[in-house]
Amino acid sequence: MIPFNRPYMTGKEFEHIAQANLNHMLAGDGPFTKRCHAWLEQNTGTRKALLTHSCTAALEMCALLLDIAQGDEVIMPSYTFVSTANAFVLRGAVPVFVDVRQDTLNLDESLIEEAITSRTRAIVAVHYAGVSCDMDAIMAIARRHGLRVVEDAAQGVMATYKGRVLGGIGDLGAYSFHETKNVISGEGGSLLVNDPALATRAEIIREKGTDRSRFFRGEVDKYTWQDVGSSFLPGEMVAAFLWAQLEEARRITDERLAIWEKYHALLEPLEARGLLRRPIVPADCQHNGHMYYVLLKPGMARQPVLESLKRSGVGAAFHYVPLHSAPAGLRLGRASGDLKVTNTISSQLVRLPMWVGLKQEHLEQTAAALAEALAV
Ligand SMILES: *Cc1c(COP(=O)(O)O)cnc(C)c1O
Repeated sequence: MIPFNRPYMTGKEFEHIAQANLNHMLAGDGPFTKRCHAWLEQNTGTRKALLTHSCTAALEMCALLLDIAQGDEVIMPSYTFVSTANAFVLRGAVPVFVDVRQDTLNLDESLIEEAITSRTRAIVAVHYAGVSCDMDAIMAIARRHGLRVVEDAAQGVMATYKGRVLGGIGDLGAYSFHETKNVISGEGGSLLVNDPALATRAEIIREKGTDRSRFFRGEVDKYTWQDVGSSFLPGEMVAAFLWAQLEEARRITDERLAIWEKYHALLEPLEARGLLRRPIVPADCQHNGHMYYVLLKPGMARQPVLESLKRSGVGAAFHYVPLHSAPAGLRLGRASGDLKVTNTISSQLVRLPMWVGLKQEHLEQTAAALAEALAV
């Protein structure tokens, strides 16, 4: 069986964890966390990177930092993970779901303005499969209407848009280091604070609403309760693990990109026969090989295809149930427009095995299994 995902380890993770233990530094914000912060700041251009427990936690911090409140509206795609919406729903906001583009499956920037009302506060750009949204268009709309932009770059680590690193473009960005992502720490994430005006408050919110970080830098002589907040920081062992991955992030990304390119070549004949559509990556976007998916031809039932792949030993998977049609989405959100593309692609999309270590023979087996599944 070729598994759908296999978390990749560089081999240095436990060495670093042992080091953290030897240093008697187990709580958060120790030397490994500082290294991770510096790496993220250097490699994304963000003003301040802050490790969190998860991308979910980073998105919750975004909602707090932007003072999202009861009745506010936040524009986002419906084709995304629940945390994109929940982070804002926790503050009483209404997620307003906008359709995605046919090509990238990202927020359709041409539909954003008709979803804006007097209550709209922010736009969340989700970079699906590590392929960037049209950030120039989204930033321009946000500026015109006085809205904030949050990048849910959970899948976008090491990917770029016009040379700029995803997560580092909007006011705020959020990364995930969950074991299903490219660079991992089991559970983990990072907030990227790109707007310098939000940097100090981000530190405070992450440290239970205290100015503990300023205290440790010697900027204040005691630390006190300053603001709302929670405990959003991971312990040092998680940061030690993550450091081993960040050191190898370029190589991990390159290996995933090579696998992606091989899939793309192997599946070209199936696309030529009209049996599926391969991913489309706009010229402005350098992706990171996070995911290889195909869209089955309209009208083809997906479940038999997934079952056939399973019989052939290939661990394939579908993806999101659109949030606007999920039980909580119906109750807590609002759909803007008919979300036709979202409804269609969500039932056609099949993700193929993608992990560092996949061999040419695995990819050929997967392509052959897909051809057989589609021939039925
Ligand atoms: C994985 C993912 C998340 C959640 O990440 P966690 O680190 O598991 O909280 C949020 N948004 C998107 C788009 C994701 O893919």
